[in-house]
Amino acid sequence: MTVMKFGGTSVQNADWINKALDIAEKELSLRGVVLVSSAMGKTTDRIIDAYTAAEKGQIEKALTFLEGIKDLHFAAARNLLTGNNLSETMDSLDILFGQLASLLKGVALLRDCTLRSRDTFLSFGERLSTMLIAARSRERGLNGMLLDSREFMITDDKFGAAAVNFTLTDNKIRETVKPGHGKLYIAQGFIGATEEGATTTLGRGGSDYSASIIGAALDAREIQIWTDVDGIMSSDPRYVKGVKTIPSVTYREAGELAYFGAKVVHPATIQPAVTKNIPVKVLNTGNPSFPGTLITSDAPVTGLKAIANKKEITVINVESTRMLNAYGFLNRIFCVFDKYGTSVDLVTTSEVTVSVTIEDASHIAEIERELQPIGKVSVEKNKSIICLVGQELWKDGGFLARVFKTCEGVPLRMISLGSSDINLSLVVPQEKTDEVVQKLHDQFLG
Ligand code: ADP
Ligand code: ASP
Ligand code: MG
Repeated sequence: MTVMKFGGTSVQNADWINKALDIAEKELSLRGVVLVSSAMGKTTDRIIDAYTAAEKGQIEKALTFLEGIKDLHFAAARNLLTGNNLSETMDSLDILFGQLASLLKGVALLRDCTLRSRDTFLSFGERLSTMLIAARSRERGLNGMLLDSREFMITDDKFGAAAVNFTLTDNKIRETVKPGHGKLYIAQGFIGATEEGATTTLGRGGSDYSASIIGAALDAREIQIWTDVDGIMSSDPRYVKGVKTIPSVTYREAGELAYFGAKVVHPATIQPAVTKNIPVKVLNTGNPSFPGTLITSDAPVTGLKAIANKKEITVINVESTRMLNAYGFLNRIFCVFDKYGTSVDLVTTSEVTVSVTIEDASHIAEIERELQPIGKVSVEKNKSIICLVGQELWKDGGFLARVFKTCEGVPLRMISLGSSDINLSLVVPQEKTDEVVQKLHDQFLG
């Protein structure tokens, strides 16, 4: 059995939904398929626009966003479906759009949209897309069985970025999905529910993670992430010239790249696959015969493979006058970050100073206040992390020298190589990011 996840671009309109189903159909001639889909195109962003407008009391504006989403889905339905299948699907879509309109009006009256309500809104994107895909699969004689992922993807109630309860989820997936040769299941990525049944989401881009969780629970032979580029590239194709597909990477390399900004796979995707040693492939729906990227536990060691970057990073420095021979200093600092649920990405220490980077700066004021008694605190905003990923980078004695030479003239605020032997991270001023990444790419991967 194969899990095939299609991203927003891969199901953006009728044409692409057909392309996705062509790919699934080919696989179905060999084995069973669980197709996991994102919302169509930019639907998730438009739902956010709609509830944000409603929250400000701008109901007309909110309903205009809703009309846009409706047009997209109805146009696709008319293109893909005929007869009863068309009218029944239009009716089912209409019910969901009616609910969305009522919810938006409620939010506009209350002028309040809680995190919990937001997740309910967001879930409509994936529920609408999969409804259409399932209907099209019936039209094509593939007879996909539409699942509701909220019945098996069981999470805690951290709305917006819920954590999956694997014990419950894995069992429920195995109870619900019984793959077999030629059998097609269709499920929503990104969404889940608490044990009590409240709708949750796994965080933006979370459909990749859903696919991996389903694949691991069912011991899939392969998890395929179908997207709009030819696999994982040597750097972000939107900003870097001359990028190439990386044919194979290890789970760890893919995890580092995803974590440090390569949006092509969600950072959590790899973990469930690793536990069952299931190969993950990143493939292009627009170019299905291209082999893409294979992610497995072992891939050839070829030095530097890719460069990712993460912008909007904040550096926090804590300087202690008492650190010399004082123990507990680091522990006290990390307890503060822990208290505010803020993950620390990079850490460097000297005898008296600790510098850390964080991505989520929403609690920066409280963190800064609580760090004051521990030492002298300074905060530097608008930084980026540039992350060079490849195995055994440190073994090449000339590598670091070449990196520093390439970065000449750019203030490197922090450097970290030791913590993971597959990642060299540099913190640079944000405005220099694209220039430095391009230079490093030209130097090592061009
Ligand atoms: P999907 O909707 O299919 O999940 P995403 O937009 O989430 O697609 O991810 C694919 C996008 O990730 C690509 O279109 C590309 O712009 C971006 N991207 C960033 N870094 C990389 C990289 N190293 N390799 C490939 N794509 C990348
Ligand atoms: N539709 C969701 C998002 O846009 C999940 C996903 O695409 O993976 O974030
Ligand atoms: Mg994605």
